[in-house]
Amino acid sequence: MNIHEYQAKELLAKFGVPVPAGFAALSVEEAVEASKKLPGPLYVVKAQIHAGGRGKGKFKELPAEAKGGVRLAKTEDEVHHAATEMLGNTLVTIQTGDAGKQVNRLYVTDGVDIAKEFYLALLVDRATGRVAFVVSTEGGMDIETVAHDTPEKIHTFAVDPATGFQPHHGRAVAKALGLTGDLAKQAHSLAGKVYDAFLGTDAAQIEINPLAVTDDNKLMVLDAKVGFDSNALFRHKDLMELRDETEEDPAELEASKYDLAYIKLDGDIGCMVNGAGLAMATMDIIKLNGMFPANFLDVGGGATKEKVTAAFKIILGDPNVKGILVNIFGGIMRCDIIADGIVAAAKEVNLSVPLVVRLEGTNVEKGKEILANSGLAIVPANDLGDAAQKIVAEVKKAA
Ligand code: GDP
Ligand code: MG
Repeated sequence: MNIHEYQAKELLAKFGVPVPAGFAALSVEEAVEASKKLPGPLYVVKAQIHAGGRGKGKFKELPAEAKGGVRLAKTEDEVHHAATEMLGNTLVTIQTGDAGKQVNRLYVTDGVDIAKEFYLALLVDRATGRVAFVVSTEGGMDIETVAHDTPEKIHTFAVDPATGFQPHHGRAVAKALGLTGDLAKQAHSLAGKVYDAFLGTDAAQIEINPLAVTDDNKLMVLDAKVGFDSNALFRHKDLMELRDETEEDPAELEASKYDLAYIKLDGDIGCMVNGAGLAMATMDIIKLNGMFPANFLDVGGGATKEKVTAAFKIILGDPNVKGILVNIFGGIMRCDIIADGIVAAAKEVNLSVPLVVRLEGTNVEKGKEILANSGLAIVPANDLGDAAQKIVAEVKKAA
């Protein structure tokens, strides 16, 4: 689960991390009010969407020369103007895709004078299985570009969970940023607090870009992107309240209500599979047969009729889907029950595209019988390879 920048900064501030003062705003009036509460003379008006690259982004509704989603303002009028241009309009950044995201919230912050911009992130490093720091002097820009063009400017090190954050980690951060004296001390302290925030919230990532050195030599978080491990959210009721469902993909949101793991992709073949590994294999074999999956969908171990119906509806809600491949292994759940579910669901949703079903496991013969006697145009398949070939052939035939 991801949260907005203003929420991330409020959270980091609770752990003692220095951030500029600021207020969220849902209207132009609130934005102006927010600026009145800040000392000035510089304000920053920032679009709050779950995507980065806002500064260099473009608004669909504004002329190409208009400014992006992060604007410096020197007067209340300028705050008013920036807020008016942003609210309700669609911001397109390198992270939003072409469709962009509608800006419904702003964050008005105290503007600081920047001497230097750094990058500091914490994430779970899959290779070491540990929380890792990623630090670079090249802040304020896209870290992927830095990684590609000048990988030597990115420093990474993992923290041993048994000992936790140690003074040498703080020194390593300061060194990687080329800081000495008081700024090194600030970097040391800030790194420790961000680490505390990471552990304390069961975060999946905390990305600070830029981490700025101000004109008066203060280290400060100017932008923060925080995501939590969804599997640990039950431990953090307060964090769950930060969820903004309007930022999430509607189909993925619907899927989460039924406990389905669904991710939309760009292809034509909808997949309904139980088990993440089997889902991946199914996607691979569709590709091997020359077409592309429209989604990743894991209905989980207990593929009930309700879940199967919800999954069909979500798959069919995607206008790109030209055929569906169901690939289910009946282990704990028996194949005949799954077949009942598929037939009931297919009838309920008025299936309009070819459907190939491959069942394997307990009571598979009974399951196949149910599908064959359903009166529906379900194409049975014997194994994974057969299933993929058949759905590709059916879709091509229907085209
Ligand atoms: P992003 O484009 O979505 O990553 O949004 P950021 O919050 O990182 O803002 C983009 C850029 O705006 C930063 O890299 C800074 O250069 C600039 N910026 C953000 N806040 C301030 C500020 O308080 N003062 C000044 N001078 N520039 C800022
Ligand atoms: Mg940024």
